[in-house]
Amino acid sequence: MNEELTSVNWVKNIIKRQEIDKYLVDGVDFINEYAISEQLAKNSDPDPIRIRDILQKSLSVKTLSPDETAALLNVTSEEMWDEVFKTALAVKKKVYDNRIVFFAPLYCSNFCINNCAYCGFREANNREVRRILSMDEIRRETSSVLKEGHKRLILVFGEHQRSDIDYMIDAVKAVYSVQEDAPHSGRPSSIRRVNINAAPMEIAKLKRLKEAGIGTYQVFQETYHHQTYGEVHPANTIKGDYQWRLYALHRALDAGLEDVAIGALFGLYDWRFEVMGLLYHTLDLEKRFGFGPHTISFPRMTPASGSDLSSDSPWNVSDEDFKKLVAVLRLSVPNAGIIVTAREKAEIKRSVLKLGCTQTDASTRIGIGAYSDQKTELDLDRKQFTIGDPRNLDEVIQEVVNMGFIASFCTAGYRCGRTGETIMGMLSHCDEGKFCKLNAVLTFREYLSDYASDETRQVGESLIMKEIGEIESLDYFKNKSHLLHKFRTDYSEILGGKRDLYL
Ligand code: SAM
Ligand code: SF4
Repeated sequence: MNEELTSVNWVKNIIKRQEIDKYLVDGVDFINEYAISEQLAKNSDPDPIRIRDILQKSLSVKTLSPDETAALLNVTSEEMWDEVFKTALAVKKKVYDNRIVFFAPLYCSNFCINNCAYCGFREANNREVRRILSMDEIRRETSSVLKEGHKRLILVFGEHQRSDIDYMIDAVKAVYSVQEDAPHSGRPSSIRRVNINAAPMEIAKLKRLKEAGIGTYQVFQETYHHQTYGEVHPANTIKGDYQWRLYALHRALDAGLEDVAIGALFGLYDWRFEVMGLLYHTLDLEKRFGFGPHTISFPRMTPASGSDLSSDSPWNVSDEDFKKLVAVLRLSVPNAGIIVTAREKAEIKRSVLKLGCTQTDASTRIGIGAYSDQKTELDLDRKQFTIGDPRNLDEVIQEVVNMGFIASFCTAGYRCGRTGETIMGMLSHCDEGKFCKLNAVLTFREYLSDYASDETRQVGESLIMKEIGEIESLDYFKNKSHLLHKFRTDYSEILGGKRDLYL
C-alpha cells in the first residue's frame, strides 16, 4: 500500500465517535454560547460590594460560578481592577505560596496533517521545513536542557502518523533515559517529569501514555466558540472536530491519567468569552471527576510562518486586557496552576507573575532540534510561532528571586501520589503550598549548587535563608515535626552532595 493511502486510513481511524457521545448531555456539549453571552450581558456594570464578596469567595479557595466570573470580567473602574489584581496575588500566595515552577518545552516534530489557520506547522504551509527528531536527537536535546538545570520537560508534537503514540512513548522513554552531570557539582541529573502536549487521543492510547509515566497531559481547546473554531480549523481535518477536542481531557481522566491541563489560544475570539469557556471546562471536569484541571494556559497568538491571521487577528488581546484575563482566571479557579510561557515578552511575564502565575518556562527553544543547534531557532520556517522571551534559565531565575519568588523544580507530587483529586484537595485546603515550600527549597538548593551563576547563587541563598526562617516559624509545621526533621536532614544531605530528595 502506498504511503498516502495508509495515511488516509490512519486519519479515518483517529476519532472514536462513541468516546465523544458518552460525555454529551442530551446530545450537546457544555459550551452554550447563548448562556455565556447572557451571563456576560446581565453581569455588566457590577456593584463594587458584590465584586468584593466575589473576591472573598475566591480567597476561600472556591471555584467561582459563571455569573461571578462574568461580573469580574465586567469590572470597569481602575481602582476596582487594582483590588482584583491584588487579590489575585493574595490567592496565589495562599494556595501556592511564593513559588514559581520552571519547565522547558521540547518540540519533537513539526509534521502535521491539520490546517489550523494560526500555526506554522499546518500541512498547507509549504514554507515550513519539516523535521522529526530521532531518538538519538531527542536524547541530545534532553542533554542540552539538562545542562541548563531543568528537571521538567513538556514534549510537543504535531498530529501525524509519524509522531503517533508509539513515537511519543519512545520519546518519553528516551527523555527519562538521559543522565547529564551538573556543571558545578558533577552530580548526575535527569529529567524527573515529562509532560505531553499532543493532539486529542482515544482512551486506549491515553492508557499507554499513563503506563509510560507521563506527568500532565495538556490539550488547548484554542477557542471555545463553536463558530470561530470551525472557521480556523477546516472541517475536513481531524482538528476540525470541536467535540473530539473538547472531551480530550475527559478521556484522559477516564484512562487513568490524573493531571490534565486546559488552555485557550487568546486572539481567535473575544477574550472574555474564552475565560468563560475555560471556566465551564473546569466546572464540567469538577462535576464529573471531582476535581478540575491541574493547570490552565492562556497563550496569546504570536506571528507564525505563512499565517496572516497570527499577526493580524481582530481579536488580538492588548497587554492591559491580558493582565485582566490572567487575574480573573487566577480568581475563578483558585486551586489550578496557571502558566505564562515564553511567548510573552519579559516585561509582560514579570507583570503577570505578580498576578498569580505559578509556572513558567525559560531558556526556551521551539525550533525542532534547536537546543542542540541554535541556528534552527532563528528561522521562523522551522518553528511553530515566535517567542518573546529567549532569556536563559539563570537570568529568569535571578529575576524572579529578586521579585521575592522562589524557583521550584519540584516533581515530588506525581512521584508520591499527590496528583488528581488528592493534590486538588490539598490545594483547596491550602496545605499543598506549605508542603511544597519544603520541596521548592530543596530543589532550589540543588539548582544553586549545581547550575547557578555567582550572582544568582548569592541572591538565591539569601532568599533560601529567609524561606527556611519562615518554614521554621509556620504554625502548620508545629505539630508536624517529623516533616521539619526530614526537611532539615534532606537540606544538609543536599549540601553534602546527595540529590533528588523530597517529601
Ligand atoms: N498539535 C497539537 C495540538 O494542536 O494540540 C500540539 C499542540 S501545538 C504544537 C501547541 C499549541 O501551540 C497549540 O495548542 C496552540 O494553542 C499553540 N499555538 C499554535 N499556533 C500558535 C501561535 N501562532 N502563537 C501562539 N501559540 C500558538
Ligand atoms: Fe498541527 Fe497543532 Fe499546529 Fe494545529 S496547532 S497545525 S494541530 S501542530
